[in-house]
Amino acid sequence: MPQILVVNCGSSSLKFAIMDGTDNPPILEGIAERLGSEHSAITFKYAGNKTVQPLHDNDHRGAVTAIKHWINSNSTLPINLVGIGHRVVHGGETFSQSVVINPTVLEGIIDCARFAPLHNPAHTKGIEVAQALFGDLPHVAVFDTAFHQTLDADQYLYPIPMRLYREHNFRKYGFHGTSYRYIAQKLATLGLDFASQNTLVAHLGNGASVCAIKAGKSVDTSMGITPLEGLMMGTRSGSLDPSLLAFISDAENISMKDALDILNKESGLKGISEISNDCRSIETAQAAGDDRAELALNMFASRAAKHLASVATNLESVDHIVFTGGIGENSPVIREKICRRLAMMGVWLDLHANQISPRGEVSMISDNRSNTSIWVIPTNEELLIAQDTLSLIADTAPE
Ligand code: ADP
Repeated sequence: MPQILVVNCGSSSLKFAIMDGTDNPPILEGIAERLGSEHSAITFKYAGNKTVQPLHDNDHRGAVTAIKHWINSNSTLPINLVGIGHRVVHGGETFSQSVVINPTVLEGIIDCARFAPLHNPAHTKGIEVAQALFGDLPHVAVFDTAFHQTLDADQYLYPIPMRLYREHNFRKYGFHGTSYRYIAQKLATLGLDFASQNTLVAHLGNGASVCAIKAGKSVDTSMGITPLEGLMMGTRSGSLDPSLLAFISDAENISMKDALDILNKESGLKGISEISNDCRSIETAQAAGDDRAELALNMFASRAAKHLASVATNLESVDHIVFTGGIGENSPVIREKICRRLAMMGVWLDLHANQISPRGEVSMISDNRSNTSIWVIPTNEELLIAQDTLSLIADTAPE
């Protein structure tokens, strides 16, 4: 069976998986971590076994070389790579769907790096290295922003001088698009009319956002020109009065960039709880009676609910609400706190179904009285990247 190597390159890490584009679990998956440091290592997970190897060439090239070496030295395994799918965070206005990578596409990805200075350069590096080492295979880019290119201008524009949009492309782009597209497609398989209905999705992980989906298309989302806008997150503040940036910079005698770093890296659940950015640790502290942990969780849930209600103004009805991402899939506490705050929309959670929602599976957790079906659907961005890559390769294959 043909398979795709899915690559998600960060500045100091590289996650990978070999998938066949079906619901089958990845044949091989793993992560190279601490790239650029002397402690860098790569972990391979195959058939339930985990092996960790130090990376002597501790950069992205070293990581992709190690993956190639692993595949070559396990040549008896049924691995049949036909393409490579790359996750790319920012596609700007250039990319509204996944594309086969050629030199023009690579230039476009580099151009979008001004809005994703940490991510896009790392993706470009990953693509160049993978092209050098797997030059005989087609490479495809799948963008986090692409799904939201369907937003209308009255949603994606910021109410600032139009000139700034015209001259600099300053606008809302939105992220987590691959996850939202996966969820929309999965939901469509669960009921006859679901593909044409209206859905709110809360993707709640360390990064968190919401999306309103109308008949499979994104009509509004909470993240903006960068992933800082919108919900309170693990370490990001989410939306706040922009004047605060100047106040923090003045009060702390730091640059705007350093003040922005505080909003990106020291805020959110971490900033309020002063415990961790990790929801599990905060829930444990809350259960032990920690008031600040309780406050952090309430703020997180309150802001998520507000943004869900806000993007819902772009829908005529809310037929479904879907929770996904590490927190959305695994935290009954957060789901309950959010749904309680959406009671005015006729959202009614089945408390028991919410508690016993099985890990890693689709489940419906709404009460019969609810106007809206509430779902937990595990996301699978890697699968969608593999599927897009397979389908683009099929489209471009010579007759
Ligand atoms: P990202 O992909 O944005 O890095 P994830 O989607 O992996 O993040 O989600 C990570 C978050 O999910 C962390 O805050 C983690 O604590 C939370 N999480 C995972 N499992 C649970 C759980 N059982 N209960 C509560 N939170 C959980």
